[in-house]
Amino acid sequence: MPIDTVPFDTDVLISGAGAAGLALAIDLARRGIAFMLIEQKTQAFGGSRGKGIQLRTLEVFEDFGIADRLAAGGGAYPPIRSYRADGSFEETLMTEATAIPDAAEPYARPLMVAQFRTEAVLRERLAELEHAVQFGVSLVGFDEDDEGVSARIEGAGGDRRIRARYLVGTDGGRSFVRQALGIAFPGETLGVRALVADVRMDGLERRAWHRFQRGAAATQLMICPLMGTDIFQIQGPVPREGDLDLSPQTLTALVRERSGRNDIVVHAVSWSSVYVMNARLADRYRVGRVFLAGDAAHIHPPTGGQGLNTSVQDAYNLGWKLAAVLKGAPDLLLDTYEEERRPIAANMLGLSTRLLGEALDGPMRRNREVRQLDLHYRSSSLSRPGSADAPVLAGDRAPDAPCRGQAGQPTRLFTLYQGPHWTLLGPDAAHPPAARPGLRVVLVGERGDVIDEGGHILAAYGLQPEEWVLVRPDGYIAARFGSEGMGLSGIPCVGRHNG
Ligand SMILES: Cc1cc2nc3c(=O)[nH]c(=O)nc-3n(C[C@H](O)[C@H](O)[C@H](O)COP(=O)(O)OP(=O)(O)OC[C@H]3O[C@@H](n4cnc5c(N)ncnc54)[C@H](O)[C@@H]3O)c2cc1C
Repeated sequence: MPIDTVPFDTDVLISGAGAAGLALAIDLARRGIAFMLIEQKTQAFGGSRGKGIQLRTLEVFEDFGIADRLAAGGGAYPPIRSYRADGSFEETLMTEATAIPDAAEPYARPLMVAQFRTEAVLRERLAELEHAVQFGVSLVGFDEDDEGVSARIEGAGGDRRIRARYLVGTDGGRSFVRQALGIAFPGETLGVRALVADVRMDGLERRAWHRFQRGAAATQLMICPLMGTDIFQIQGPVPREGDLDLSPQTLTALVRERSGRNDIVVHAVSWSSVYVMNARLADRYRVGRVFLAGDAAHIHPPTGGQGLNTSVQDAYNLGWKLAAVLKGAPDLLLDTYEEERRPIAANMLGLSTRLLGEALDGPMRRNREVRQLDLHYRSSSLSRPGSADAPVLAGDRAPDAPCRGQAGQPTRLFTLYQGPHWTLLGPDAAHPPAARPGLRVVLVGERGDVIDEGGHILAAYGLQPEEWVLVRPDGYIAARFGSEGMGLSGIPCVGRHNG
């Protein structure tokens, strides 16, 4: 059969069900887009790996409806307890003790949740949306043409061909999709080999993140209680060459040697890995109908806890764009995915590599730079330049603001933004545009939908009389404009195409 007459099995084939693949699947599911999410492993990943959930990701997870569920499965970061050679110690906080939510930023502290639990919560949400991961199915080949992608997948039932309109490789640092496309992955190997192991152990309190041999490049050891579990995560550098035995006995010996303590005993190891740290960025995120997202597009040291967060936010950026184009928006919209996300990853690589350098002897204090709230798309071709003196500009993250619904109930802008739609925020005195699919209009004022009782909307957005702010489905500001022409016509995806 000629390729252009082969029927499509699905709209989007997602290869790899880690955090990036799961986030993309949720975003497509809630938009009613057909997809298949395949995972080569036969069962869910069981390791703690990416345990830090940053504030921007919490906002994304609120939009997905899982922020509270995730918080219930984890907890706040404990203080870091650095031991001196004589066994005495000092404790420092990773995050400011005074960090409290404010009107514009509802989440103030990063969350510690083991990656296996984060992924489990994402799978639960996917199940609620009536979808599931197909475990034990690998992508082993694909070709693309003008209309779609023909992929070969392998599972217990044998080989199958799948025809999809798009393929997204969320298949991790060794991405098959990236390699099959011949996309270069330049960067550097950072000369650090490390072990990470999830263990059950005796001898250490769970109210601190224990740090031994601070300042010793080859023998520093970090042992972190994983919030919401009875597991500790052991991390530390190991020799660059040679096999390592990560049995409980060997880990007990290693911990004793580096801590100088004989009362610590590792009883069981539920997951472990030895890895070499790299900082690498894919040259391209898109080739025709095939995309890369998450670790497939960028890898870097774990310092600063950026990888899983950046991966989820890649998916959050791509999801609504794929959905909009599948519903008729111009294909050009998909080019803005790489345009917006690749520079973010390039900066993040620099940040995590710098923090790796500081991790040896620094206090491991994390500032606002790792929280991902200030990431923006100001120079994106999707951001329509406007007045430069407003508190937030096109391309910036749209802030939250508590306010009161006209029916009397307390509400917040994030509640009104939640869901797959665009939002147009404007004053009640202005004439709202006619209803369009996929656009929610929110009028602010005494006669509007919400009343800005505390002045938080004004403070965060600086809305002028007759001024409108258009917020994208992923919570970034697309444009600010006056009533004339409503400014919507230049935005490629508002209106007929409900993304
Ligand atoms: C020690 C350590 C600590 C870390 N700490 C943090 C942290 O605090 N915060 C943070 O944000 N990040 C952290 N990270 C990074 C984080 O774990 C990764 O960035 C994250 O897992 C990336 O998610 P992903 O979905 O892109 O890729 P992955 O999690 O690697 O998932 C890719 C999936 O694709 C599957 N796959 C591969 N090939 C195929 C194929 N051909 N067909 C089908 N499926 C396939 C794989 O089996 C895998 O399940 C840490 C990493 C390490 C090692």
